[in-house]
Amino acid sequence: MAKMIKLTRREFNNTMSKGIGGALLFSGSPLLYGKTFESAQKKQLGVALVGLGGYSTYQLGPALLDTNFCKLTGIVTGTPEKESIWAEKYAIPKKNIYNYDNFDSIKDNDEIDIIYVVLPNSMHAEFSIRAAKAGKHVICEKPMAVTVAECDAIVKACDEAGVKLGIGYRLHSEPYTQEVKRIVKEKIYGDVLYVNAEAAYNSRGNPEQWRLNKKLAGGGTLMNMGVYSIQSAIYGAGQNPISVTAQEFSTRPDYFKDTDETITAQFEFPNGAIGNIMTSGSANANRLYSTFENGWLELNPANNYGPLNGRTSDGKEINFPHESQQKLQMDDFAKHILQGTPNLAPGEMGKRDIIIVEAIYKSIAEGGKKIPLNLSHMGI
Ligand code: NAD
Repeated sequence: MAKMIKLTRREFNNTMSKGIGGALLFSGSPLLYGKTFESAQKKQLGVALVGLGGYSTYQLGPALLDTNFCKLTGIVTGTPEKESIWAEKYAIPKKNIYNYDNFDSIKDNDEIDIIYVVLPNSMHAEFSIRAAKAGKHVICEKPMAVTVAECDAIVKACDEAGVKLGIGYRLHSEPYTQEVKRIVKEKIYGDVLYVNAEAAYNSRGNPEQWRLNKKLAGGGTLMNMGVYSIQSAIYGAGQNPISVTAQEFSTRPDYFKDTDETITAQFEFPNGAIGNIMTSGSANANRLYSTFENGWLELNPANNYGPLNGRTSDGKEINFPHESQQKLQMDDFAKHILQGTPNLAPGEMGKRDIIIVEAIYKSIAEGGKKIPLNLSHMGI
């Protein structure tokens, strides 16, 4: 132990990432879990939010007031006016406030263990990689990145730095989704036959917003809401798809000038089940329906901030007390670091979804051709 404490933080991280830490994991050492000396000894990890837009302001920031295993200790913003507002509301000291230029010096700040990237999609890769290079654990919002190549670069940077990577897929931490996964996995109603997943909202907001700008968003509704329908279809079927066929529809080309508006896609699953997904910026839908040999389940809504709502074919309600999904998600990620619990939404999951997104765009570009998917080696 005494010898280990002489290691620098980076040396220690590298040691852990090379697997020597794996041996330590079972050695009874107080450094059982976690990446750094600091995080291994902390009860609550410090989180810095990068990008203080709507999601950080109305969901993540408030949730971090309630988390048990992490708390908001820093911010990174390109908008100086937001600094004092956040500093006051969350008691953030000046030394923990960064901008996009001096962000890399966050590496020297031991009060920040996790960097949560909440920027427009095309900025996820750059900031996640910079965060990893600063030796910090990373949560990257969905969609993980705008290409599979970028996802690979994020995973590589995190692996090289020996830091953990989680994707902002909050639903994996909330009980309705966990119950769906359990019902499917335990085959309560037998084998799955068909799954339908819809994630859509009727977007009428600012036509100049980054979500309608392909360069910043990486795509359209598919990148925004579509990843939820992909996710739902996969945990609703309990399998990764083996092929996808997709179609695109446009009814408001003046609004969706640069990005996709409505997409439907069909999956084939290894057991022969079929999946259908729909995502749209011109309709409201938020539903997961899975049907099995002996019954069905439905969540509706299935992927908003909750409370969700569900039922099954035998008349049972799927019903849990409501808790902030963001709180549960960030605490799960912190526990993964502190206690070695499973990473519920790892980088591989984010990358898998972008592989599917790319296949959907390819199918559309090729007139609805069926695109094979090789995802059997990836988790669900
Ligand atoms: P937003 O538009 O409200 O905020 C974006 C933030 O990025 C702003 O603070 C803005 O100042 C900053 N920014 C930096 N450079 C920018 C640029 N060039 N153009 C525009 N903004 C720039 O967006 P949001 O809703 O907070 O979404 C941010 C990320 O979070 C997205 O990746 C989105 O997919 C994700 N998100 C996830 C969920 C979820 O439920 N997991 C919900 C909402 C958003």
